Amino acid sequence: MINISSNKSVITMSPNNPPAARAKPGDTVCFETLNCYSESIKTEDDKMSLVPWNCINPATGPLFVEGAMPGDVLKVQILKIELAENAVMAIGPGAGVLGDVLKEERTKIVPISDGKVKFNDKITLTAEPMIGVIGTAPKGEDIPTGTPGTHGSNMDCKLIGEGSTLYLPVNTEGALLAMGDIHAVMGDGEIIICGVEVSGRITVKVDVVKDFDVHMPMLLTKDRIVMLSSAKTLDEASFDVTHKLHAFLCDKLGMELHEAGMLLSAACDLRICQIVDPLYTVRMELPTWIAKEYGFEMP
Ligand code: CA
Ligand code: CA
Repeated sequence: MINISSNKSVITMSPNNPPAARAKPGDTVCFETLNCYSESIKTEDDKMSLVPWNCINPATGPLFVEGAMPGDVLKVQILKIELAENAVMAIGPGAGVLGDVLKEERTKIVPISDGKVKFNDKITLTAEPMIGVIGTAPKGEDIPTGTPGTHGSNMDCKLIGEGSTLYLPVNTEGALLAMGDIHAVMGDGEIIICGVEVSGRITVKVDVVKDFDVHMPMLLTKDRIVMLSSAKTLDEASFDVTHKLHAFLCDKLGMELHEAGMLLSAACDLRICQIVDPLYTVRMELPTWIAKEYGFEMP
């Protein structure tokens, strides 16, 4: 198996990043990732303002996937996410939706063992590991790993976890896949600007899909086909993802446009991924069984 160490990391998604490793379609690759603070918060006395900007949201990689050409789609099956023993939450005034009421910086070290996340003495959460940052090189200008877009990256979608498959547009030869920012668990919205942030190891299988004419991140979970869109506002992102999934129902499932609109309203869920990054991310979820009724399966 190919292994990429966490000392091979980037803080921008860029077609100019030199590959940290190369893989062939069908290969399995392990990405060792730092937490979003580049491990610079060690104790509850270390506050988020101590972390330099160029150490936020490192993504391990990038991985050059042979045969991936612009216009293709990179298929990333998430096989396993292993978590370190301690996670971090760091908050402060001005950060996130509650930034206006926070009075001081605060750090919480969160122990994790046997799939349990010990939030405090009363509350233990079940770990639901997810990948906050996962993307390919964008078209054109470099984009910081903190900003999501059609190339994926910091989408903070809690469905991007073990057993799901992510489909990302390829914009440059080799795709240049990079990932990091694991959360042991996170609520939809990520309202205080962090999940339960943790380093770890992500094992994925990569493949290249030709002739699948989709130009935004998509996800296949055990029972949902999901489209993801990021924009300046939740309204814009919601409008975009709804129109894209509507077009998908018409083009890929062959549905008539009014019928497809009614089906979206009757059976598909529009949800918030995060409202704290430079662009906000929403997703729309189509039950896979409905796609199957129309003879469609994800490639
Ligand atoms: Ca994130
Ligand atoms: Ca994070």
